[in-house]
Amino acid sequence: MNIRDNFLKVREEIPDYVQIVLAAKMRTKEEIEEAISAGAEIIGENYVQEAEKMYQELGEKARKVKWHLIGALQKNKINKALKIFDCIQTVDSPELAEAINKRAENLNKKISVFIEINIGSEITKTGVKPEYKIIKELAEYISKLNYLKLEGLMTMGPRVGNPEDVRVHFRKTKEFFNRLREANVPNVELKYLSMGMSNSYKVAIEEGANMIRLGTVIFGKRPYDLTKGG
Ligand SMILES: *Cc1c(COP(=O)(O)O)cnc(C)c1O
Repeated sequence: MNIRDNFLKVREEIPDYVQIVLAAKMRTKEEIEEAISAGAEIIGENYVQEAEKMYQELGEKARKVKWHLIGALQKNKINKALKIFDCIQTVDSPELAEAINKRAENLNKKISVFIEINIGSEITKTGVKPEYKIIKELAEYISKLNYLKLEGLMTMGPRVGNPEDVRVHFRKTKEFFNRLREANVPNVELKYLSMGMSNSYKVAIEEGANMIRLGTVIFGKRPYDLTKGG
């Protein structure tokens, strides 16, 4: 099976409202191009530098798709990130939100952001603690920043062998999503729940994801695994 077939197969088996973010880390320009020509609309990058390189290599095609940052963002990369990304899925502190806002204001660019939740409370992972109060406070903080538009929640969830074991974490994330929506924070329009990867996207969709992030199932195995950003 090639990339095109893999993409079309997944696209066909999931509901239309579910958006696919291609996890592009360690893939070549040719691989990404093949996925774009099969219909992929969102590229997810973990690293600002890799995104920059891919964006340039893709030329015209880069502007046909949306770019989402799905890895951690370092403060010294924000300016560069703002030039490429349509959405930053990994906001996890007021300090980071504020720093992005300040630079976005300088560039006069409004940017979509998601709050990343460390749903399994894993010490090795980024994201806010899985406590509603903390999530809501961060949402309220972001809502007051004029150049950020909070539109979603994102979670990685623990990487476990059996996707059934992450179900409870996805369910909990969906509960936060629902509660935060019902809180009707001004200037916040929560639309996207980004959760589920190659081994867990089916479970994630069952638990309410409307955005999934896929690498392996589309492109095949990576030579080694990288899950953090920079
Ligand atoms: C790599 C990555 C994915 C996709 O992982 P696969 O298991 O290859 O589908 C999704 N989200 C993030 C944040 C990633 O870094």
